[in-house]
Amino acid sequence: MNPIDVKDLSFSYDQHLDVVKDVSFSVERGSYTTLIGHNGSGKSTIAKLIIGLLEKEQGSILIDGQELNNDTVETIRRKIGIVFQNPDNQFIGATVRDDIAFGLENHQVPSNEMDPIIEKYASEVGMTEYLDHEPTRLSGGQKQRVAIAGILAMKPEILILDEATSMLDPEGKEEINALVKQLHKENNMTILSITHDVEEVMQSDHVIVMYEGRIIRDGLPSQVMLNEQELVRLKLDAPYSVKLANELSKLGIKVKNSWNMEGMVDELCQLLLKK
Ligand code: ADP
Repeated sequence: MNPIDVKDLSFSYDQHLDVVKDVSFSVERGSYTTLIGHNGSGKSTIAKLIIGLLEKEQGSILIDGQELNNDTVETIRRKIGIVFQNPDNQFIGATVRDDIAFGLENHQVPSNEMDPIIEKYASEVGMTEYLDHEPTRLSGGQKQRVAIAGILAMKPEILILDEATSMLDPEGKEEINALVKQLHKENNMTILSITHDVEEVMQSDHVIVMYEGRIIRDGLPSQVMLNEQELVRLKLDAPYSVKLANELSKLGIKVKNSWNMEGMVDELCQLLLKK
């Protein structure tokens, strides 16, 4: 039984034009799956359908084998934590502390156990000094940090990140990604990350590629992300290692590990030593 099974899913906002077209995919338990695609390809819509914020027109969504419908939506939402790109609509509390507490309350965490949890996660995302600040007055990046802390504090079985670190600088992104990865491993959390970061995709277990509402590739990043020309056609960026391998190939240097920077460096060292 997979944590997420989506079958033949279709959806339109206006009952005319489908923005999600007959989409089927599965996310394995404990995996780090990435969902990529050009802007407007339907990724956020899929995330909203999975947590029941939008209602599907056709198909089915199964979470841990349980079909998502009006009767199951509340139970299912308890298992899934989602962080949106724009966290503004996610804040409920008057302060950062209240906001993280609100999520914990919803997960029936006793109030005397909350403070250490709130402090731990605020510290993990580097927001300790803002605990008594109003979330709405924070910068975009700080808001994203708080939204992530609030969701991680609830330790969801399934975590959906919808470009959740897009407003952070590269250093902040790396820091938060490392935290998410650590919790993913420690808690065997299943992650579905919607991202534009091809390097994040290369480090994931499984990638799903969307184009104009359809899934057009689904598999291992080391297989799916190798064709630079195809990625460009899909309005996506190719991984740095793949671009470098292609440039080397133009110079007559063929490498086998074009999806893996470390493997490629080893190969190049071997080639140099042979010369
Ligand atoms: P992505 O996350 O891949 O950028 P979205 O799922 O946000 O794509 O959008 C898919 C399509 O649905 C786009 O054409 C977008 O304009 C449209 N869309 C998204 N949200 C709404 C909405 N609330 N009302 C109408 N159309 C929408």
